[in-house]
Order: sequence, then structure tokens, then C-alpha cells
Amino acid sequence: MGKLNVTIMRYLTGEDFRVLTAIEMGMKNHELVPGPMAASIANLQHGGVHKLLRDLCKHGLLSYERGRKYDGYRLTNMGYDYLALHSLTKRDVIGSFGNQIGVGKESNIYIVANPEGEEVCLKLHRLGRVCFRNVTNKRDYHKHRKSASWLYLSRISATKEFAYMKALYDRKFPVPKPIDFNRHCVIMELVKGRPLCHVMELNDVEALYDELMNLIVKFADSGVIHGDFNEFNIMIKDDEKPVIIDFPQMMSTAHENAEMYFNRDVNCIKTFFKKRFGYESELYPKFSDIERTDALDAEVLCSGFTKDMAKDINRELGIDEETGSEDEEESQDTEEKCTVDSIFDQLKLQDRETQSDSESIDSFDRFESGSVRSCATT
Ligand code: ADP
Ligand code: MG
Repeated sequence: MGKLNVTIMRYLTGEDFRVLTAIEMGMKNHELVPGPMAASIANLQHGGVHKLLRDLCKHGLLSYERGRKYDGYRLTNMGYDYLALHSLTKRDVIGSFGNQIGVGKESNIYIVANPEGEEVCLKLHRLGRVCFRNVTNKRDYHKHRKSASWLYLSRISATKEFAYMKALYDRKFPVPKPIDFNRHCVIMELVKGRPLCHVMELNDVEALYDELMNLIVKFADSGVIHGDFNEFNIMIKDDEKPVIIDFPQMMSTAHENAEMYFNRDVNCIKTFFKKRFGYESELYPKFSDIERTDALDAEVLCSGFTKDMAKDINRELGIDEETGSEDEEESQDTEEKCTVDSIFDQLKLQDRETQSDSESIDSFDRFESGSVRSCATT
């Protein structure tokens, strides 16, 4: 763990970002983006792009790799981080960068500061990562597709987290205040406290137990289940009040396995309190206790985090399909289309900011109708 290395961001020019964005666009359906394709999407002279690409590789933002059919460039994690951080900096959400404070299962967490100098929390989502060296060795179709979609999966994970956090925060649930998100990055309030897993004693164990169980019920009354309600995702403030974090796996109480996930959350708390504090209680919530009073689950699906995105991320996180889904073949189609379309839509939204970027989208459209085929579909 260390500092977020953003020094070279200061040296990157508009053209550098244009080329990085071109690679990002190309990667929506190409594992590797060949130089001429990058030049075409970025709408820059081929010769000029070559040097830009080479320098971006030297700084670790891109890597050049040998493919089965052709060679090309791909964004590294660092390259994708820079694109998101650049956007958030331009929007005046971030002013300066600080230290890493956590590594989660599927994320890196940093303290950053807003332009006013106040500390906020930056979560970089990392889903669907594969070791690219392995991909080069065992090039089966599935791995191939996975590597092409880590951008998309990390992005929906962040989109979903932000959508749930906002809906929960608006209802005054104890969650960090959501501030903004871009691509795979979420900016939220920095919780002053420590994770429950680091708490060895409490003044009032029973009060916290009751509060956490009540929260599980209140979530469910609103129509949602946290899905990973454990000591790592519960922050405890100095006054021993909990703040719940980590939402990419949240689901609706209408999910066909909702009861199982609900009970699992309840059992996590029961087990932890017994093990850590020797505390046991006969009182714990049951799925049948739920009285639905709100439609937080439906509201979230209207917020830009779509049903298709929900399906894709649930598949990635191993949350079973909900009932009423189409047959296998059809949902495969949906996934492909959804992956490509939604990235493109979001890129369009983000890049509406500058004229030059919309030109690059035009050239991208031209390229799409050209002759180079997506390696993901071969
Ligand atoms: P993951 O999905 O990878 O588990 P989490 O959201 O649970 O990521 O975050 C990982 C760790 O980072 C947490 O256990 C916590 O210690 C820290 N963390 C996350 N969000 C915040 C926040 N808003 N304020 C302070 N610490 C946080
Ligand atoms: Mg976590």
C-alpha cells in the first residue's frame, strides 16, 4: 500500500488523454487495439499517435501485447485509473491525492482531498481482472471475453455502488455520503472510524447487536438486502455507532434467493458477536418479519443502473439469476449488446464535455463499419 501515483497526470497533455480515451473505446469490443485503429478513433495522424502510444506504454498507462491475430494496445489498471481521476479532477471533485487505506476483495481504497482540502474516500473498483500473461498462454474464448470486459464490470460495480449508496443515504441510513462517481471510481465521505473486525471491545455490545439487526430489517423493509453484511463492511465510529459500507452485491428482497441471502447476513452478525464478544441472543430477525414499506430496489433500477447491468454484475459476483429471465441463448445476446452499448453510451455522455472528443466518436463510428473485426466475436 502506498500513495496513489498521480505525478505523471500533471505531465499528460490533451492529446495523451485523447489517445487513452481512444484505447478505452477500442477496448469495448477488442481485446487489443492496433495502432492504426487508435489513430483512427483518436482522429490524429498515425505518425504522431505512434510516439504518444509509446510514451503512454513507458509510463505504464498502456501496454503493448502480442495477440493471436494481431498485436495492439490495451489500457492497464493504471491507465483506466488516470482516465477516471482526470475526469473527477476536471469536475472539481478531487483536488489532491493521498494514501491508500485499504485493499478490499475487489477494490483499492484511498484517501483523497476535495479542492477545499477536505478528506474524502476514493474507491477504485476492480472486477473481472485476469492475469494477462495467463491469457496469452491459455487463450480460450471465455478468458478472452473476460479480459475484454474488466472495464465494463468494474464500471458497473461502481455505478451500482453509487446508486445504492445514494438511495440509502437519501433515506438516512447510516452509510457514507456519496459524492460522485466516474467509470470504476466512487468518491464518498470518509468514515471516521474503524472496521468492526478491528474492534476488540465495546461499551455496549447488546446495543450494537440490536442496531445491526434492526438495520438488516430496515434494509429489507425498504426492499433490499446488503448481501455482505459482515465485520469487514461495518465501520464503527468513536460513539460506537455503525456505518455500513460496500454495496456492489446488494440485491432486491424480490430476488428468488432473497431469504437465503437475508439469513446469511443475519448469521454473519450472530456468529461474529458470539466469537468476538461471547454475546448470544435469542432475538434475531427472520425473513417472515419483513414488512415492505418502500421500493428502494426499484428506485435504484431507475437511476442509471439498469436491469441489464444488474444481471451482468450478479453473474460476475455469483449471485444467482432472478426468476423470469430469458433462456440461455437470449440472455447471452443481451449481455453482449449491453456490454457494448452501455460503455459506448456512457463514453458519449462523458465525452460530450469537449468538442474534440465528439469528433473522436464520429471517427469511431466510421471505424466500426470498417473491416477490422472484433476479436471478442471471432
Ligand atoms: P471491498 O468491496 O473491496 O470489500 P470496501 O468498500 O469494503 O471494499 O472497502 C474496503 C476497506 O476500505 C473497508 O474495510 C474499510 O476499512 C475501508 N473503507 C471503505 N470505504 C471507506 C470509507 N468511506 N471511509 C473509510 N474507510 C473506508
Ligand atoms: Mg468489503
